[in-house]
Amino acid sequence: NAEKPSKLRIAIQKSGRLYDDSVKLLNECGIELRNVKDRLKTESDTFPMEVFFLRDDDIPQYVEDGVADIGIVGENVLFEKNKKAEIVEKLGFGKCRLSLAIPRSETYQGVQSLDGKRIATSYPFLVNEFLKKNNISGEVHEISGSVEIAPGIGLADVVVDLVSSGSTLFMNGLKEVETILQSQSVLIKNNKLNKEQEILLDKLLFRIKAVKKAKRNKYVLMNAPNEKLSEIIALLPGMRSPTVLPLAEGGWSSVHSVLSEDEFWEKIEQLKAAGAEGILVVPIEKMVM
Ligand code: ATP
Ligand code: MG
Repeated sequence: NAEKPSKLRIAIQKSGRLYDDSVKLLNECGIELRNVKDRLKTESDTFPMEVFFLRDDDIPQYVEDGVADIGIVGENVLFEKNKKAEIVEKLGFGKCRLSLAIPRSETYQGVQSLDGKRIATSYPFLVNEFLKKNNISGEVHEISGSVEIAPGIGLADVVVDLVSSGSTLFMNGLKEVETILQSQSVLIKNNKLNKEQEILLDKLLFRIKAVKKAKRNKYVLMNAPNEKLSEIIALLPGMRSPTVLPLAEGGWSSVHSVLSEDEFWEKIEQLKAAGAEGILVVPIEKMVM
């Protein structure tokens, strides 16, 4: 019963899509890391924390085993690995979805049409759960990367893969027809932390929540041709719903809304693509919900 040291050991992705946001989150929480470059392990001088840099696939196992006390990983990986690690906080980055995609030339006939199909994926566990839940049998082919080329080279009929914008699927002649899992990064913990570690984790969580709250929202105004309004409004959350005001010029409206910084750039791109023009972004001084 070796006594655990009174510091938190956190596992984060060594390099890849989650690395930057994970380090940034720690920094925003006042946790500075010593020479991160090319290290497998480092410590913080400003918080009792040791950081392990790992492949994201290995993080759930390390946290279950208690080799790391906590970790940052995508829900997609956490659920695929099916390990005993508790989610303590959703972190709001690394958002993507695990989706079923079929060749664009085909018409989707519902989940039942997957019966007997060859499915290429890096997520065999989650795909099998999905098949079981829908009472269908498919042939699951596990591939560790470039899953989206499988139908094109005759390796599979359909794929289940991570999607964020959908452009990779599109470029490979596929279309998304079913979402199997919505995912984002989460903070997970080992279920046998000692008292001191729980206190440290509470302290970290308090800071993470404060950082999340402080993430600024922006007031956004744009002009939109009236025939594009419904498409544009569908992209906007707003406090309740966006404000729409007629412009002096007929056929056009001004649309006002509040966008959070997390989704800001992505939304602006989508709004432009949907036909919005003259987009203005204004800081908000106070926001009373
Ligand atoms: P590693 O070498 O650590 O195993 P990886 O290649 O498996 O890295 P990345 O591509 O860096 O993983 O993605 C890490 C995580 O980022 C994913 O598991 C997922 O949670 C998230 N993510 C967000 N958007 C996407 C996307 N469009 N495609 C893939 N992953 C995404
Ligand atoms: Mg991985």
